[in-house]
Amino acid sequence: MIISRPIKGKIRSMRTIVQGILLGLFLGAPWVNLPSGAPLIRLDIPGRKFHLLGNFYIPQEGLILFLFLLIMGLSLFFFTSLIGRVWCGWACPQTVYTDLFDFFGRLVLDKKYGKKDAPKPKVFIVHVVWIVISFIACFHWIGYFASPYEMISDILSFSFKGQIYHYFLLAFTVAMYVDMGFVREQFCKYGCPYARFQTIMMDEHSFNITYDFKRGEPRRQKTVKIGDCTACNMCLVVCPTGIDIREGLQVGCIACGKCADACNIQMAKENKKSLIDYYSLAQIETNEKIKWVRPRTLIYGVLLTLAVSFALFKLATRVPLSVMMIPERTIEPAIIDNTVLRHIFKLKMYNISNDKQNLKLSAVTYDNRELVIRSESPENLIDLDGSQIKDDRIIIELNLTENDKSMRSIPIVFTVQDEKDKSIHVEKKIPLSLPLRK
Ligand code: SF4
Ligand code: SF4
Repeated sequence: MIISRPIKGKIRSMRTIVQGILLGLFLGAPWVNLPSGAPLIRLDIPGRKFHLLGNFYIPQEGLILFLFLLIMGLSLFFFTSLIGRVWCGWACPQTVYTDLFDFFGRLVLDKKYGKKDAPKPKVFIVHVVWIVISFIACFHWIGYFASPYEMISDILSFSFKGQIYHYFLLAFTVAMYVDMGFVREQFCKYGCPYARFQTIMMDEHSFNITYDFKRGEPRRQKTVKIGDCTACNMCLVVCPTGIDIREGLQVGCIACGKCADACNIQMAKENKKSLIDYYSLAQIETNEKIKWVRPRTLIYGVLLTLAVSFALFKLATRVPLSVMMIPERTIEPAIIDNTVLRHIFKLKMYNISNDKQNLKLSAVTYDNRELVIRSESPENLIDLDGSQIKDDRIIIELNLTENDKSMRSIPIVFTVQDEKDKSIHVEKKIPLSLPLRK
């Protein structure tokens, strides 16, 4: 494990602000409940609901989840091609928590932090603090899946009956403590899948932490000054992953910018601009202006815009009602008195909102003949409370014409309509098959 030297500078200060905001959001969001009582954000796995901003989504709405993941993936491609591994250096939990662990390590051990001769009792305190941080972080992470209010009352009263989250809390806390306390940059270098394929998303125009080898090389040797690099090696000693950025773009570089701040201090002594900063390789090689618009960024940008637009359209036109109709397998369709075709269906309706719905069932043929529906509810009016699920069995009957009798099936449109809110309207196109005649 590498304990890199701390450094002050413009990038470090900006990263501290961004990381503070991200940590605040991460720790605060699970505690927020909206006036309706719904959580701001929670993936309720036993309840099969994903709560977000007052709405909730169910597994049957897989397209929305798919679009969400697609947008995440495309954003990663788009922003990496534009500004390199900004995620790694500025927002990745591995980086944010490494910085937090280092902060507390230095708070307790000061200059002895990371040194072999550090006083053992203080090292012990650091590890206790790290375990507490791991516990708090994992508690909040699980708070995205279970109510933190209930979790805290369970923990304080030691009553975990019927709960399983405390196993996860224990396992995640141990995993995080081991990761942040002992693995750290090794994960970025050898375990992170994103680090592996970041190079295919970036090109010579990506705006990334880069060393200006044209100005810097050949480095100063002893007192012989050739290029601007003074060979102070400060960029190396502050690097949390222990790499030398002067050797070019590497998988191990998490774009944290510490080397840029270090070089800035060093170069300021010589009244020069930092050799390491946000540059593009092409900018350094040919001095050309940075090209933000290029085929790669254009393609990723267009795909991202399309995915975001489609997701917004789907959300804006989303109907908060799920209707499933399954033919009753145990009862065959029948023709009664040679005139009425009768089908029986299992009907499952799910109010995917927090508001009450007053639903009316109806069905027509394609040529607009009304069908008779018999359900368990009077006049086929069904009231569903917010997030209520209702299972019903319905009979659908159609008066057959002579023409119908010659067909193998008759297509119909089954409709569930909210009596007050006309936008809550679900249509199912289903064929009513005629029983085989002997
Ligand atoms: S090379 Fe620089 S930007 Fe990359 S990880 Fe090391 S210190 Fe951070
Ligand atoms: S900090 Fe700057 S001057 Fe010092 S070795 Fe690194 S690149 Fe050279």
